[in-house]
Amino acid sequence: MSSVPLSRTFAAAALVLVALGVGAADVRAQRATTPDDARRLLSMIAHDSLEGRLTGTPGAMRAARVIAAQMQRIGLEPAGDQQFFQTVPIYAGAPRTPGGPSRPMLAASKEMYDTIPAAQRREAVNVVGILRGSDPVLRDEYVIVGAHYDHLGMNSARAVDGDSIFNGADDDASGVIAMLETARQLKEKGAPKRSVIFVAFTGEENGMTGTNHFIRNPVRPLAQVIADVQIEMIGRPDSLAGGPGKGWLTGYERSTMGEMLAAAGVAVIQDPRPAQNFFSRSDNYPFALQGIPAHTISSFGGHSDYHGVNDEVETMDFPHFAAVINATAKAVRVVADGAKPEWKAGGKPERR
Ligand SMILES: [Zn+2]
Repeated sequence: MSSVPLSRTFAAAALVLVALGVGAADVRAQRATTPDDARRLLSMIAHDSLEGRLTGTPGAMRAARVIAAQMQRIGLEPAGDQQFFQTVPIYAGAPRTPGGPSRPMLAASKEMYDTIPAAQRREAVNVVGILRGSDPVLRDEYVIVGAHYDHLGMNSARAVDGDSIFNGADDDASGVIAMLETARQLKEKGAPKRSVIFVAFTGEENGMTGTNHFIRNPVRPLAQVIADVQIEMIGRPDSLAGGPGKGWLTGYERSTMGEMLAAAGVAVIQDPRPAQNFFSRSDNYPFALQGIPAHTISSFGGHSDYHGVNDEVETMDFPHFAAVINATAKAVRVVADGAKPEWKAGGKPERR
């Protein structure tokens, strides 16, 4: 989740796939995600060795490789320019404060990137895999399911008890695991009618740079994308959402998606804190500005470890987390099989 809106309107397998009978005709069971699965997977993405996954750092690239390996194991089709990696042209920009860390910036174009001195360029990627739809017609329509894997890196000036690593277990390793487990569950049970593009985005914490790059360089035409479902910060329950196992959907009232999910029994309600403008503070928003019904599933209840070094694996509520992962998998199947979500009157955001 981005800390501050950039402006009023634009905020800034068992993946080890258990090979249950490999015959093509076998109908496989869809194994739900357990709290133990959730803990094991989250521990990989929020591990200290990934050094807080700041966009443009080696730690973030290690995270990207872990995510790509999971996508491969699940059996998604690679959809980047280098297998599962979509290269994002990031460079080290001027620090916000003199002597502070340089900021990961997105080059406006390939031509602009080519003018950046090599020493200032940084390696950064979105990780993208596709599950091809099962319906011969609807498979040319796409649902994007995304979460951001980048976080704030390390900062010794903000260390607590010697810990300077911003693990971002909730923000947003939790969403990345939901994205991956949704992919696994859909693949195991059988692809939905529409195709699904699974994306782990970089750069969300730095102006949604990974998403903005993806939108300029979509792996499939955006005109064929019927919805975007993002997942952000689902590792702890929110009492205002009904507590453990429950979540909320940003911008619920803006489109028909929320009602579709509720009718299907998915435990999401309206965002209980509309004044926080969460609808415009995550990667769903750039998609919404493109006219695509785009929302974020979350259960962030305003905990005090937000953007702090204590957003750690140990602070997650794993039964809750697993329940929201399973709800997300169900939500994505509903959207990928059902009626196209539509904006309600006045619901589609406009760039001011
Ligand atoms: Zn954040």
